[in-house]
Amino acid sequence: MPLDIVVCVKWVPNTQIVNIDPRTGTLIREGVPSIINPHDLNAVEFGLTLKDSYGGRLTAIAMSPPSAKAGLEFLIGMGVDRAILITDRVFAGADTLATSYVLAKAIERLMPTDLIIFGQETIDSSTAHICAQTASWLKLPYIYYVIDARLEDGKKNIVVKRVLERKIEVFELPLPCLMAIAMKSNVPRPVTLSNKIKAKMENLIEVWNNEMLKLNINCVGLKGSPTVVSKSIPTPVVPRKKLKFEGTDPIEAARWLLDRLAEEGVRVI
Ligand SMILES: Cc1cc2nc3c(=O)[nH]c(=O)nc-3n(C[C@H](O)[C@H](O)[C@H](O)COP(=O)(O)OP(=O)(O)OC[C@H]3O[C@@H](n4cnc5c(N)ncnc54)[C@H](O)[C@@H]3O)c2cc1C
Repeated sequence: MPLDIVVCVKWVPNTQIVNIDPRTGTLIREGVPSIINPHDLNAVEFGLTLKDSYGGRLTAIAMSPPSAKAGLEFLIGMGVDRAILITDRVFAGADTLATSYVLAKAIERLMPTDLIIFGQETIDSSTAHICAQTASWLKLPYIYYVIDARLEDGKKNIVVKRVLERKIEVFELPLPCLMAIAMKSNVPRPVTLSNKIKAKMENLIEVWNNEMLKLNINCVGLKGSPTVVSKSIPTPVVPRKKLKFEGTDPIEAARWLLDRLAEEGVRVI
């Protein structure tokens, strides 16, 4: 029962090295190298693992400026079969509603597909909206925080484990469906040399623009984005405190530490 899987990935500025404009509180993106959103690599690994078990095909899609091609090549290096770069000036400035609309319309073109997977959230905006919104456009079921999945009833249903703070839940969903993969689960496999060569030699990345998708320009990009960021205020930085226990007894040290934490309002259970 081979599976046709689509994984959505975002090309993001590497926020580990990005700076914040102290005046506007927004990210300074200029000159910052981009990477595939790290949490999306967990989703790619999840898709590759399913493909290893059941066979099939994994397609990565990214709505992004053309530079994302490098990121998609990296994913082919990991084992993704093909990639689609959705890029057009009219898609720029999109909020989550407009982003999910374009992704949903692109996924419709890829139908029939069995499973559409996402990272849990991005490192540059982290709204975690996109999976739910895309599901809503496509009118398909969805689930978040998935760590593991197996097929049931041939290819009709999928049984998934999802992790919450203190428990793991098991759900059964009909296919096709959407799922966001829990960050830190499914440790991404390394790129292999043969796949890397494949990514460079074979033409595995398609570029889709709005001439192809033919979406109403009032529903995409800035025009299709009802969200307005009216003001951005940086959160105040809480100064770090340095405390030193002067004694030598470890029990006393533990009690002393608990007292200091209590003073800061931390309840230790
Ligand atoms: C008014 C407004 C204007 C904005 N303008 C810009 C702008 O000009 N440039 C900009 O970069 N951002 C802009 N943003 C931010 C933009 O909304 C988000 O970058 C984007 O919609 C995705 O949201 P997110 O990063 O919170 O995704 P999340 O919901 O946190 O992402 C969840 C998952 O969805 C998938 N995903 C998310 N985005 C994409 C994508 N583009 N392609 C494929 N898969 C994806 C990934 O699997 C990801 O892990 C703007 C936001 C607003 C409100």
